[in-house]
Amino acid sequence: MNGKRFAVILAGATTLALAIHTPIAAQGIPQAEPAVSPSVGLLGNTSAIAKEAEVWLAELVRINTSNPPGNEEAAAKYVAGLLEKEGFRPELLELTPGRSAVAARLRSAAVADPAKALLLVAHLDVVPVDKSRWTVDPFAAVVKDGYLYGRGAIDDKSMVAANLAVFVALKRSGVRLNRDVIFLATADEETSGDASVKMLIAKYWDKFAAGYAINEGGNVFLKNGKVQYIGVQASEKVAANVAVIARGTSGHASQPTKDNPVVHLATAIAKIGAYSAPVHFTSIVRRYFEGLAPLEDDDIGKWIRSMETSDRGEHAQRVVSDASPLWNSMLRDTIAPTVLSAGVANNVIPAEARANLNVRLLPGDTIDTVLNDLNKLINDPAVKLEVQPNAGLAAPPSSLESDFYNIISKVTSQEFAGAPALPFQSTWLTDSAQLRLHNVQAYGLVPFPTTEEDLRRMHGDDERIPLVSFDKGVDVLAKIVAEFAVAH
Ligand SMILES: [Zn+2]
Repeated sequence: MNGKRFAVILAGATTLALAIHTPIAAQGIPQAEPAVSPSVGLLGNTSAIAKEAEVWLAELVRINTSNPPGNEEAAAKYVAGLLEKEGFRPELLELTPGRSAVAARLRSAAVADPAKALLLVAHLDVVPVDKSRWTVDPFAAVVKDGYLYGRGAIDDKSMVAANLAVFVALKRSGVRLNRDVIFLATADEETSGDASVKMLIAKYWDKFAAGYAINEGGNVFLKNGKVQYIGVQASEKVAANVAVIARGTSGHASQPTKDNPVVHLATAIAKIGAYSAPVHFTSIVRRYFEGLAPLEDDDIGKWIRSMETSDRGEHAQRVVSDASPLWNSMLRDTIAPTVLSAGVANNVIPAEARANLNVRLLPGDTIDTVLNDLNKLINDPAVKLEVQPNAGLAAPPSSLESDFYNIISKVTSQEFAGAPALPFQSTWLTDSAQLRLHNVQAYGLVPFPTTEEDLRRMHGDDERIPLVSFDKGVDVLAKIVAEFAVAH
């Protein structure tokens, strides 16, 4: 099929509605349920607000917030404009010139109780694109075959739009709240730089101080057209970069020497590439695998259950790690060489060769232990390791016993045909780590049912979201927030 014939550039709700009304069955979209009919929750039927939010999502995708440089202020102003029209008093929170977050509040009482407040948080920036590898314009919000394509369609503008939808629905409904609900769209999530949530907290914490938050970080995993499980992120790994530096004597390439740093670096990197750090179970990862084992086929389920047995444990850990890069990374510290640099000319042996290692530590593990193990492994005095500045800080995990966690688990499981909600420790970073360091019980749940294939497009090419999944996610998020924050 020639996809272009069916491409619709979103100009507003009308064209969008036309695109969406193509029968879903004909579009071959993986669906969470046979029919998506938002059941009536405390906020009523959400299908109309979800359609409005599709337009907001499209408009947000069209505002290019590729980071660097970010330029999130344009998106923050767009969001603030929408909120003003709904009668809110949003505040732009400037971080650096051209880079702002935006916050707004729905009050439950005259005096705020930050410890009870619920924060709906998502980020406005996106990772850059390689336009030549996309089949559509990444900033045109093209709707094709029931998907909205564009950078940020999943990560994370859909969550900004869904949070907005729920926030606006709460206001329009006039329901009484039992806690403040705060909308927050952050900047600079993707590079954690000068305009990131860390800076935002340092400058403006009182504007959005909360005891609970829902953010990206976990997902509703679709497999074979059904939701397999809901991963509710309650913890995340910690990133650090380590420079590998090999030094030798520079000289004429016509007379190779034994201390050529290019050769020493390459040997070290080959060893690191073949290395696996030891497995450590955090309590969240243990619970995740306990819940996952019965959902997987008998064979892999059996290996998952055997990972902590004394006789077959090590073999089982290997089988499970080899079966999925995600599982491998949930079980251990990982070390990925990402950048190599050496050489000044084709006929010169350089004095130095360098590589960068991107290390992802399990919460609780330390970079010193990893360095120790790597130094033993490399075993070469010509090669040194140096931790780079701005390593992440481990945050305490969010509680798996809180009311909010229980509500997220209960509502999602009900809404996705009994699929279980499992606690999830993401291998990637989110703004939630900084929130957790400020005593926020932050949970990661992108509520849109998504296949592994579509998840891989985040940060990749042709990022897209199925609009049926978006609508369903808006409804699920509305139910979660209503259950937790509406007085009833
Ligand atoms: Zn993101």
